[in-house]
Amino acid sequence: MKKELLDLTQSQFKTAAKNIIHKDYIFEQVFKWVYEKKAASFDDFTNLSKDIRIKLSENFVLRTLTIVKKEISNIDSTIRYTFKTADKKSFFAVFLPSKDSNSVCISSQIGCPAGCLFCSTGKSGFTRNLSRGEILEQILQIENDTKQKISGVLFMGMGEPAFNYNNVLSALKSLLSKKEFYIGKRHITLSTVGIVPAIKKLADENLGIRLAVSLHSVDDKQRKRVIPNNFGFSIDEIIDAAQYYFKKTNSRLTIEYILIKDFNDSPSDAHKLARLLKRRFLINPKVQVNLIPFNYVAKSPFLPSTSLSIEKFKNILKLNRITANIRQAKGADISAACGQLGY
Ligand code: SAH
Ligand code: SF4
Repeated sequence: MKKELLDLTQSQFKTAAKNIIHKDYIFEQVFKWVYEKKAASFDDFTNLSKDIRIKLSENFVLRTLTIVKKEISNIDSTIRYTFKTADKKSFFAVFLPSKDSNSVCISSQIGCPAGCLFCSTGKSGFTRNLSRGEILEQILQIENDTKQKISGVLFMGMGEPAFNYNNVLSALKSLLSKKEFYIGKRHITLSTVGIVPAIKKLADENLGIRLAVSLHSVDDKQRKRVIPNNFGFSIDEIIDAAQYYFKKTNSRLTIEYILIKDFNDSPSDAHKLARLLKRRFLINPKVQVNLIPFNYVAKSPFLPSTSLSIEKFKNILKLNRITANIRQAKGADISAACGQLGY
């Protein structure tokens, strides 16, 4: 079976291709075509001999995903891509254009085992992990399709990155590497539902990328009702891990909080969240709360909070000197907003 080149680190590729390429400078040329020039076919590697190109294409593939659907938002030009994998499974990624820099919101799994009740990915069950190559290829395919440079990556699409730790870590290293994607660490954000050992391991890697923790509640029983499978980590343990990450990396930490009507959006919830954050992080402008108005998900029992309760919630945090932003939904008309990446 042919290997996906993007699945391999540079040293793994050097081992896998040792019978095809015998000189270091030729390996360097291959990596330039793959990561810098983003060539989609070995035929494009014009400075390599025909013999090497043929042998590479007999043993490796450069692309395994196919774009099967592309929906463009009339509101904000966000694009929702549906990809099909070589084994005929589909999943989504989102292109988020902006004046200053374009970002992509990519998937780490097909479906998600956490099964959050407010999230359409969670409701669609779990199929499988994406490989390192499939994670990275989303960015290359979107860049090629939009002809736009991508300078920001959000691990906020389908799936829980912490459940696919090794592939996600390898992809992160490739994104950061000067010899590969070379995206700035402050432009990469990984969002997690709070898988404590993974947060700590990632902190020890000290990659400097930004972490977002999906908290959504300050009460363990209430949280468990909407996030059934997070391996039983308590809010205290999750905040401990987030604190560890923050201290170790000194990079911005975001606490994500979906506001769901009459569930977690009362002034008392806001006061409790403020107290928790003040107690654990003191007041630090690098620790911010992202308030996410609940995005509509079919067959979900939940409703979005009213604009008034959202404002009130935010003001309570502000009065406690906690930086809080209300996240504007992007691509809501094409179901590309947070939590809407389901089938
Ligand atoms: N599994 C990771 C990353 C993917 S979800 C996580 O849960 O953090 C990305 C973000 O979308 C998370 O903060 C998640 O809570 C949020 N989200 C899920 N469903 C949503 C919905 N219906 N409305 C608004 N945000 C939602
Ligand atoms: Fe999975 Fe995140 Fe959706 Fe929960 S919110 S089901 S963890 S993708």
